[in-house]
Amino acid sequence: MAVSDHVDLETFMAGVTKRNPGQTEFIQAVHEVAQDIFEFMEDKVHYHEAQILRRMAEPDRVISFRVCWEDDNHNVRVQRGWRVQNNNAIGPYKGGIRFHPSVTESVLKFLAFEQTFKNSLTGLPMGGGKGGANFNPKGKSDAEVMRFCQSFMSELYRHIGPNTDVPAGDIGVGGREIGYMFGQYKRLTNRWEGVLTGKGQEYGGSQMRPEATGYGAVYFLRNMLKHQGMDVEGHTAVISGSGNVATHAAEKITQLGGKVLTMSDSGGFIHDPDGMTQEKIDWIKHLKTVKRGRISEYADEFSGATYHEGKRPWDVACDLALPCATQNELNEDEAKSLVGNGCKGVSEGANMPTTLQGVKVFHDAKILYGPGKAANAGGVAVSGLEMSQNSERISWNSERLGDMLTDLMEGIHEKCTEYGEQEGGYVDYVKGANIAGFKKVADAMMAFGVV
Ligand code: NDP
Repeated sequence: MAVSDHVDLETFMAGVTKRNPGQTEFIQAVHEVAQDIFEFMEDKVHYHEAQILRRMAEPDRVISFRVCWEDDNHNVRVQRGWRVQNNNAIGPYKGGIRFHPSVTESVLKFLAFEQTFKNSLTGLPMGGGKGGANFNPKGKSDAEVMRFCQSFMSELYRHIGPNTDVPAGDIGVGGREIGYMFGQYKRLTNRWEGVLTGKGQEYGGSQMRPEATGYGAVYFLRNMLKHQGMDVEGHTAVISGSGNVATHAAEKITQLGGKVLTMSDSGGFIHDPDGMTQEKIDWIKHLKTVKRGRISEYADEFSGATYHEGKRPWDVACDLALPCATQNELNEDEAKSLVGNGCKGVSEGANMPTTLQGVKVFHDAKILYGPGKAANAGGVAVSGLEMSQNSERISWNSERLGDMLTDLMEGIHEKCTEYGEQEGGYVDYVKGANIAGFKKVADAMMAFGVV
């Protein structure tokens, strides 16, 4: 087959769009990757002949199932659950579980596709997967959440295993939910094994796992800044979200001498011009994980802070921005506002928080932009280390794991610069992450032949 006979990007994307009707998030994620991979594959006929990208953009399997549970008023409730096993070329499927009303097959397919590249970038042997349900844990009692998690695992357990597929937490799935699901898996299989990560410290969880995604996103930002002779210290930061990733990102920025000005939830954002202290961040952690309250309460608690209902924080002037809430939460206009206000660097704690048009604004302005698949890979990397500890039946201390996380993030940054550095020293981290992540998985798939 001659190189000129290959389908071009447009034709490839027309096929993806046709085969996945209405799955806008998935199509968006494939498009973002395909742009860079088509350029990279231009002179690499073997990838084209083996249809490697087409195969990566077709999940190994999508499992969809009914999840029935009873609420506290004895009403029978019915939800839909999924596990998307995208690719296991380089290791068992690995990726979080999301409980949120916005969860659809498209959202999980986009996340599992992204996860495949992210996991490859970590250098650890992990394939890509993602799962979840359109269940809203907000406002539910502990007993309701427990019944839902048990019902969800009653189907999921037959599709996962420590060498098959190892889920973790994500939006709406934290320590409480992982505990309920692990308990049910153990009950159904009579096996104690490292089938989930993000577990509690008492039952096989890894030190540093809760901190890893947020800390990692800040380490990635620090590496990008360092590459250009800058540092986090003395800079202001705007952060969205107030969950696991956002609070730990805020903590690390503060520890490194930066000043965090905002945090948010789906109701709005708070702006604290004095900046956040560890005490204030601990208060938010308690509010969100124990009291399960709303971020608006911060403005009642701390004088000088204001709450902006229904708004996102991207118009607040800052040096650094860390979107840490959800997908497509930063659009073209908001990206322009950040650039216009002098923002120097963006590091994505969340998955695909910036729209394609927003990313273009950052690239055109040539500001530092670390995409989620590189910047938030610290979480899954420490999950990989949790799997290693469970297999060896040992546990490492937080100091050792902290050093490993720092090294892993440095390694990811290096891989991105290897494939993303442009003339004049500007690094296209999206391109770097896409190509480095793709190459390892593609070469493994090539070794297996047509399967
Ligand atoms: P959490 O559930 O702990 O927190 C999510 C936060 O985002 C909450 O503050 C939530 O607000 C907010 N949020 C959710 N949906 C929206 C929305 N539509 N608009 C505005 N805010 C919203 O999740 P995590 O912190 O774990 O995850 C955050 C992001 O990071 C996700 O994109 C996830 O995929 C990504 N990620 C997480 C990893 C991890 O280790 N946890 C690893 C890698 C990536 P509210 O309380 O109102 O819902």
